[in-house]
Amino acid sequence: MNLLNFIEQFPDEESCMFKYKEVRDKVGVLCSVCESKDHYWKSDKWQYECKKCGKRTTLRSGTAMHGSRLSYRYWFIAMHLLTSTKKSFSALELQRQLGHNRYEPVWCMLHKLREVMGRRDGEYELSGVIELDDGFFTTIKPESEKDKPLKRGRGSQKKSKVLVMIESVPVEGQTTKNGKQRKVGHIKMVVVDDLKANTITQIVEANIANNTVIDSDNSNSYVKLKDIGMEHKPEIIPKEKVNEMLPWVHIAISNAKRLLLDIHHDVEPQYLQSYLNEFCYKYNRRYFGDKLFDRLLIACVSYKNEF
Ligand SMILES: [Zn+2]
Repeated sequence: MNLLNFIEQFPDEESCMFKYKEVRDKVGVLCSVCESKDHYWKSDKWQYECKKCGKRTTLRSGTAMHGSRLSYRYWFIAMHLLTSTKKSFSALELQRQLGHNRYEPVWCMLHKLREVMGRRDGEYELSGVIELDDGFFTTIKPESEKDKPLKRGRGSQKKSKVLVMIESVPVEGQTTKNGKQRKVGHIKMVVVDDLKANTITQIVEANIANNTVIDSDNSNSYVKLKDIGMEHKPEIIPKEKVNEMLPWVHIAISNAKRLLLDIHHDVEPQYLQSYLNEFCYKYNRRYFGDKLFDRLLIACVSYKNEF
């Protein structure tokens, strides 16, 4: 959807509200009291009313917009910008574009949308053949380490560790567009506290289907992958062979790093996952085109808040 289509389709607050209701009617409303799914629509109040117990549910309640005071149109604009731009949008830039006087609610909205993206991708497991590696992303020094001297290298407090998993099926006898011998599928990036074998194994188990083939280097982080039923094939990978043997993880890591550098500066470690959620969500849906906006909208409506 380009900007003109967007403006045409959503010219005002009302058009966004009607669209949100249309999607919510399709997704369904769950009563927070009796869990019934049958509701009346009270058009005078713009609320649902449970047919069984009478509990009212607002249109925003239980969705990603729960608790937000920003207009529907702001949310729609944010979703449009996040899904129609190849890169991303900073909260500061969006605040400027909206002419909104406060930064914080805009920032919260974008992070909520990224959380929605992360949850959606969290529902899927990777399978087939996986390239696995870790990346070190630059983040600012956490508050707790403020008074401590800065360490160098991989252990630096200015680096966050990220486990990168990417479906990468070898293509026999063929070279793909980028000259790689492997076809890339879906991707996941998870910020981790450490690279100990137990930590990594747990994350792999939660994100990758059983019996998947996993290619990685021979790091100690991966020594327990066989224990959880993975077909792990560790290899000693000399530096000059990395791009050949694990081509896609390295492209993905460098693209994600560039995005952070270009758009979001001075990322605090606790928000890195949020930006990576957006990167992976968009990467995994890179062929969705115009449908991406609608998909994100459905994901927003389907988001279940704690009642
Ligand atoms: Zn009820």
